[in-house]
Amino acid sequence: RAKSDGRGAYRFFEEEMDTRMQRRRLLEVELRTAMTMRQFHLLYQPQLSLDSETINGFEALIRWRHPQGGIVSPADFIPLAEETGLIVPIGEWVLREACREAAGWATPATISVNLSPVQVRSPGLVEVVRSACMSAGLDPKRLELEITESVLLTGSDATLETLRQLKALGARISMDDFGTGYSSLSYLRSFPFDKIKIDRSFVGDITSNGDSAAIIRAIIGLGRSLRMETTVEGVETAEQLAHIRAEGCDQAQGYLIGRPLPAEAAQAMLAQPRAA
Ligand code: C2E
Ligand code: MG
Ligand code: MG
Ligand code: MG
Repeated sequence: RAKSDGRGAYRFFEEEMDTRMQRRRLLEVELRTAMTMRQFHLLYQPQLSLDSETINGFEALIRWRHPQGGIVSPADFIPLAEETGLIVPIGEWVLREACREAAGWATPATISVNLSPVQVRSPGLVEVVRSACMSAGLDPKRLELEITESVLLTGSDATLETLRQLKALGARISMDDFGTGYSSLSYLRSFPFDKIKIDRSFVGDITSNGDSAAIIRAIIGLGRSLRMETTVEGVETAEQLAHIRAEGCDQAQGYLIGRPLPAEAAQAMLAQPRAA
C-alpha cells in the first residue's frame, strides 16, 4: 500500500515536471521567434546630471511584445534567454539598436546598455560593441556598459581582459545594482569602474531610515575617493532627489526624473532641454 502511494505521488510529480518543462520549452520557442518576428523594443529611461541639471544620459531597457501575453518585462525572460544562450543574439540586437538610436540624439548624452554575464563571457563581445558603434556612427565614449557583480563572481581573467578591451575601445563600464550582492566592495578593487549605480533599495527609505542615508553617503564618498561617478537608481520623490544632491551624488535616475520612454519621447526630451 505504501508502495502504491509513493508511486502515485511520484506520478503526480512527474506530471507537474512535464507541464513546467513544456511551458519552458514553449517559452524558448517563442523567444526564438521573437527575434525573427521583431517583437522586442527598447525603452529609454532618462538620467539627470546633478552638476548641469540636464538630462545627460538614458538607460536602454528591453521589452518584449508577446503576441498573446502583452508586454513581458525582462525579469520574466532574461533568465531563460541566459540559460539557452539566446541572450547573446538578443543582447547584440540591443547594442546595435541602442547605439543607432543614440547616434541620432540632439545632444551627446550617454546611452547605457545592460550586459548579461553570459554576454560578457561570449567570445565575440568586444567585436560586437566595436561594430555597433562603428555602423551607428556613435563615439564609443558615449556608450556605457552596465554589469552586475555576478559578471565578476563567475568571471575569470578572461572576463577582466574583456572589460579592459571594452574600455580600450573608449566605452565606459558601470557597476549596476551596487550594494545588493555579497561582496560588492572587493569587486571595486578588481576593476576600475567608471561609475557605481547605487541600487534603488537604498534610496527608498533614505529620508526615514538613518542607516540607508549613512550607506548612501558612504558609497558616494567611496566613489569620490576611487574616482568613480555615482548614480542613485530608483529616485521617486523630490525629497530623495534633494537628499542625494546634498550628498554630492553625480547623477539621478528614477520615476521622478522620468519613466522608461519610447525612443521618440526620449529624443524629444533632449531636443527641448530644460532643467528638471
Ligand atoms: P536595471 O538595469 O537595474 O534597470 C533598472 C530597473 O529599475 C528597470 O526595470 C527600471 O524600469 C526600474 N526603475 C527605474 N526607476 C525606478 C523607480 O523609480 N522605481 C522603481 N520601482 N523602479 C524603477 P526593468 O526595465 O523592468 O528592468 C529590470 C532589469 O532587467 C534591469 O535592471 C536589467 O538588469 C535587466 N534588463 C533590462 N534590459 C536589459 C537588456 O537589454 N539586457 C540585459 N541583459 N538585461 C536587461
Ligand atoms: Mg541597469
Ligand atoms: Mg540597476
Ligand atoms: Mg536594479
